[in-house]
Amino acid sequence: MKKSIIPTPKSKFLRVKCECQNEQVIFGNASTEIKCIVCDKVLAEPTGGRTKILTQILEVLE
Ligand SMILES: [Zn+2]
Repeated sequence: MKKSIIPTPKSKFLRVKCECQNEQVIFGNASTEIKCIVCDKVLAEPTGGRTKILTQILEVLE
C-alpha cells in the first residue's frame, strides 16, 4: 500500500510577501481569511471556491 505525503491533489501553497516585508506560506484554497502573522493585515480572502490574494505572490508551490 502506497503512502502519499500530499494531502489532496488540489492542494496548492503560495509564498506571499506582506507589505510589512513578512514572507508567509499560505494555502491557496483557503476557506477563511488569511492574515499576516506579523501585522494582522488580510493577505487572502475566500471568493466562492477560489482564494483572492491581496498581496504580492512570490512563488507558487505545487
Ligand atoms: Zn504583514
